[in-house]
Amino acid sequence: MTVRVRFAPSPTGRIHIGNARTALLNWLFARGHGGAFLLRLDDTDRERSTQAFARGIEEDLAWLGIVPDEVARQSDRFARYDEAVERLKEAGRLYACYETPEELERKRKRRLARGLPPIYDRAGLELTADERARLEAEGRAPHWRFRLEDNRIAWDDLIRGAQRFEGAALSDPVLIRADGTYLYTLPSVVDDIDFAISHVIRGEDHVANTAVQIQIFEALGAPPPAFAHHSLLVGAEGEALSKRLGTLSIAGLREEGLEPMAVASLAATLGTSEAVAPHADMGELVRQFDIAHLARAPARFSVDELRALNARLLHDTPYEAVSGRLERLGVTGGEAFWTAVRANCETLADARFWWEIVAGPISPAIDDPDYCRQAADELPPEPWDDTVWKSWTGRVKARTGRKGRALFMPLRQALTGLDHGPELAALLPLIGRDKALKRLSGQTA
Ligand code: GLU
Repeated sequence: MTVRVRFAPSPTGRIHIGNARTALLNWLFARGHGGAFLLRLDDTDRERSTQAFARGIEEDLAWLGIVPDEVARQSDRFARYDEAVERLKEAGRLYACYETPEELERKRKRRLARGLPPIYDRAGLELTADERARLEAEGRAPHWRFRLEDNRIAWDDLIRGAQRFEGAALSDPVLIRADGTYLYTLPSVVDDIDFAISHVIRGEDHVANTAVQIQIFEALGAPPPAFAHHSLLVGAEGEALSKRLGTLSIAGLREEGLEPMAVASLAATLGTSEAVAPHADMGELVRQFDIAHLARAPARFSVDELRALNARLLHDTPYEAVSGRLERLGVTGGEAFWTAVRANCETLADARFWWEIVAGPISPAIDDPDYCRQAADELPPEPWDDTVWKSWTGRVKARTGRKGRALFMPLRQALTGLDHGPELAALLPLIGRDKALKRLSGQTA
């Protein structure tokens, strides 16, 4: 079977970490099976969907390393949905209903009071042509419901295992609103058929839709695809993330300076039992991905974990991979500088901070000017390499009798103005003799 999957966001906003994870799971699945990944823009809501959001979503995906094999827009496909509607009407599977939301609410309450499940009573199905004509003459426009079969709906979910729904226990879903607009349910099925989607991988908030959609596939004469519903993201303490997701947009994480491979590495392991590890490229993620590893339990996401992973990723990042970006940050220290500071960077922009420490000017922190003067006397002549720190501090130790923290900390404070930072053995040759002498004598340099 040819694997074809789709990621189907509505372009009514930018994507957040939760959507990005859905996209990534689809993409990894497609790549792992030599399949195709379709980006489907669910833009039937013409008021809220914009071109700018659609472009933004493509940009966010591209930043993550996901370039769709095909792009489709639901707004281009209304003719196909209208054809499906005709077909369902002819088959007696789509029927007009005229209740107002208030009437539906009263019906619902009455059923609940009588101990019945609050599903639609199919009153629309009983209406005669005359009754319909009368209602329409009153100015009521119909909305359209899909008549479900009463039989059992079952599928073997690739993540959740065997799933089962009783058609008789479900409400006939509304497919077309009274103003003629489509709800998501039918267009999605028509697209999945037309684009020959083999696997629908989406959040578990769609499980109940799947039960209904399987019957729509069948009513349209198409075999349903395979389904996989992943659990949704929650916060580190298990709290709902829905309210915070807006602040966890991919664009926001990018602006914060996080690496796409940190976001992708975390998103691909969330909700699995695999250890979170930084992966250098998408190929590695594809090789280790297996949809069967996704658990049903909610996937815990924490920005702190993402930041820590970002730092771990940078620690192993070779200079060639970031040289252009470092240059754009105004960091011109080359490979030696990057290798010296990368373990002290949470984001790449931190390299700029360390570059300012190296290049100066900085204000040295000096408690004991005498000690720093003696140390300055011992600085060897240039040229320097990465052995200079060891030979210099050896001489300072011999001259002053200091060792350990008392030997090193005042030198660090004078040379960098800070108590902590990258190895001085690597920084000192980058700072150079001239600036080191000035800083040890307390001058801003
Ligand atoms: N536009 C729908 C959503 O974002 C798509 C769901 C689906 O994958 O079928 O929830």
